[in-house]
Amino acid sequence: MDADVIVVGAGPAGSTAAREIASRAGLRNGARVLLIDRARFPRDKPCGGGVTVRTAGLLPFALDPVIEDIVTGARIRIRDGREAIRDGDRPLTYMTQRRHLDAFLVERAQEAGVEFRDGLAVREITALGANGFELQTAGGMLRARVVIGADGANGVVARGLGFDAPATSAVALEGNIAFPDGVPDAFRRRVTLNFGYVPGGYGWVFPKGDHVNVGVGGWKGVTGKRLRPALDRLSRVYGLDPARLESLRGHHLPMQRRGMRTAAGGAAVIGDAAGLVDPLSGEGIHAAVVSGIAVAGAVEDFLGERAKSLAGYEDALGREIGADLATSAALTEIFYAAPEPFVWAMQHVDGVWERCVQLVRGEVDYVDIPRAFGAIGPLTLGPVAALARRYIASRHPER
Ligand SMILES: Cc1cc2nc3c(=O)[nH]c(=O)nc-3n(C[C@H](O)[C@H](O)[C@H](O)COP(=O)(O)OP(=O)(O)OC[C@H]3O[C@@H](n4cnc5c(N)ncnc54)[C@H](O)[C@@H]3O)c2cc1C
Repeated sequence: MDADVIVVGAGPAGSTAAREIASRAGLRNGARVLLIDRARFPRDKPCGGGVTVRTAGLLPFALDPVIEDIVTGARIRIRDGREAIRDGDRPLTYMTQRRHLDAFLVERAQEAGVEFRDGLAVREITALGANGFELQTAGGMLRARVVIGADGANGVVARGLGFDAPATSAVALEGNIAFPDGVPDAFRRRVTLNFGYVPGGYGWVFPKGDHVNVGVGGWKGVTGKRLRPALDRLSRVYGLDPARLESLRGHHLPMQRRGMRTAAGGAAVIGDAAGLVDPLSGEGIHAAVVSGIAVAGAVEDFLGERAKSLAGYEDALGREIGADLATSAALTEIFYAAPEPFVWAMQHVDGVWERCVQLVRGEVDYVDIPRAFGAIGPLTLGPVAALARRYIASRHPER
């Protein structure tokens, strides 16, 4: 065996899983954890790089060295309509660049004893039953008892081992506009959110150290070819010249399908590879970290011969975020069937904005939203979401 555990993909999911497994007291004197990524690090990837306070709170170290701005408020608007500014003094989201964030997370994993090999693509994977797994890489064959797929949507691990591919019905496109002398004050410390240009999603401007990140995301079937014009319109609304957009990149936002398996035998998929992006917000780093932590306990039990498979991970993931992702998916249908009243409420109703703040800070979960309406809330969520879905289908059959 080349390692007890091979984690394929060194995004936030993979580096968290590798670090957590290597840190487990029960495995410290023996488990060899190998983290591999096809890209040479530091590497960038299409992402707004927003790390919510609820996500940062899951990590046993501060992200200070890679934080470029701390968001405490928001600018909210529909298309070129009236804007509401919601400022506060509590941190909501830490703005990072993925090339720095992901390299930083890998370094923390290495400190915990993980061996990291970058520039090494996995091409094929074969399950050898009780003998573990064989991974064909660009640098030769590797063998391990446990394999964790953290290699994103359509990852080679899920495909090779027969896991379902996540749904890829949402897409996003983003780019950067440089401000070498500093980001204009109007964007600093705030997320700028704009609804209405893309059905099933929103546009954003995120402040970074010397640039802003501008993006739009929504339903692929409806927005696919309209993302670029929407990004240009969004930029202009905020006085940003779309001709100055650099490093434009698009990518899917992989989401769960009903009944998707995430573990079998000694293998599991985590993060985007398991389709864990939050349907309502598009946030994926949170579930990447949650799933990375959740899988470590199951690996510990499996290697310690207290469990016959990593099935415990699937159970833990369901307990941690299963209900919340399902609630977020239902709320997404309701919100995007008619976003105007909800956006208006975010703009003008303090209690609604406070709920958003609490969600981002991890003080409440999505499941608490229907519960706020009493027993009737959770009971009616499903039927109302189904109605909303039918309404959306009548307006956007191509969704
Ligand atoms: C435009 C856009 C904006 C977004 N903005 C945000 C945001 O602001 N905040 C947020 O929380 N989420 C955001 N997301 C979602 C977030 O980017 C993802 O959910 C998150 O990166 C998932 O992390 P991961 O570790 O699962 O996968 P990834 O970060 O995608 O990492 C997968 C890794 O696997 C490697 N890999 C792939 N195939 C192989 C192979 N065959 N062999 C070896 N290595 C391989 C890749 O090189 C990569 O490094 C955004 C997504 C998009 C598309």
